[in-house]
Amino acid sequence: MSAPVDKAHPVDLTVDKPAREFRVEWASGEKSAYGFDYLAALCPCANCKEERKERERNPLAVLSGPSGPTELENVEMVGRYALNFIWRGGCGAGIYSFDYLYEIAPGRAESPGEGEG
Ligand SMILES: [Zn+2]
Repeated sequence: MSAPVDKAHPVDLTVDKPAREFRVEWASGEKSAYGFDYLAALCPCANCKEERKERERNPLAVLSGPSGPTELENVEMVGRYALNFIWRGGCGAGIYSFDYLYEIAPGRAESPGEGEG
C-alpha cells in the first residue's frame, strides 16, 4: 500500500461551467468527466459522509433543501493534492483529493457487461 500511485496525478483540470462538468486528464493518459450533480452528491466531507451512511441505515429518505441542478459556486486548489468544491445551495466543505476523484471517476467501476464489438 506504500507504492506511489502516480495514476491519480492530474495533468490537466477543466471546470466547464456551461457544460456543468468537471474534467480531468490523468498522468496515465486516462480522462474523466464528472457532472456537477454527481460530484456534489459524493461530497467527501464528514457531514455528507455521515448523511449518506444514515441514508443506508434508514430506507426512508426525507429530502429537504433545494431541488434542481447543482451549481458550482467556486473551486479552489487545496495544496497540491486536492480541490475544494463549493456548491451553491449545497455543501462547501468538500475537499476532493485527487485520489478520491480518481476513485470515483465515472466509468472506472466495472460496467455491467456491455457487448464489445
Ligand atoms: Zn459535504
